[in-house]
Amino acid sequence: MAGKKKTYVAADEKTKAAAEYVKQSMKQAQPVGNATPYRIGAVCLWVVAFALQICAFLVLAGKLDLKFMPALYQMIAFLVLDFLVVVIGAQLWKKANHIDPASEANPTKFWLWNNMGVIAAAVCFIPFIILALTNKDADKKTKTVAVAVAAVALILGGLFNYDWNPVSSEQKEAAVEALGDETVFWSPFGKVYHTHDDCSHLNQSEQLTYGTVAEAIAAGRTRLCSTCAKKDNITTVVTDGE
Ligand SMILES: [Zn+2]
Repeated sequence: MAGKKKTYVAADEKTKAAAEYVKQSMKQAQPVGNATPYRIGAVCLWVVAFALQICAFLVLAGKLDLKFMPALYQMIAFLVLDFLVVVIGAQLWKKANHIDPASEANPTKFWLWNNMGVIAAAVCFIPFIILALTNKDADKKTKTVAVAVAAVALILGGLFNYDWNPVSSEQKEAAVEALGDETVFWSPFGKVYHTHDDCSHLNQSEQLTYGTVAEAIAAGRTRLCSTCAKKDNITTVVTDGE
């Protein structure tokens, strides 16, 4: 462990001990913010992605030609843009869900809200695939490339857009109730938040972010570290052990 930089931050009761340590790689969390702009941004981007899909199809059907490069490349370019825009939109949507999670009390809305990014990917690629497959004007090679590119984009988009760390408003409320304003910690690539900055799972992280549990969830750390939960005897908060 020699030579390894490790930093600590004050977590209320540990203030005195923590004050002895350097805080150079501790970063304060972003404020939670408002979910609405993220949702609006997501929907706007998905509308743009849908339009890009239509452009890709118009190129395939020979009804749109921007001339500056071969039609096949134009079509691929539109599909790649479609992919990028739909994925960025889904990141905004996920962020909104983490700021303002849906309630499990309404299972339809809860499912829809958590899967909206995957649905958007489907809506922005499946119509193109169907139209490409059934188009009679385009040559076979163009159609094959079109369907292959769109299918890969659909699969990758689905994987990128799926929320692998979903959270419900009930889970968030339980976490806020259990931890209140207590400081929690998370690492840049970690998926959970910790109640102890000296948790063994944080040993490898040179930079930690600290904030409230609401800020941790907004940052996509929707679960409490099970090791920290055991240490603190917290049983009401969803952990990575479940
Ligand atoms: Zn931990």
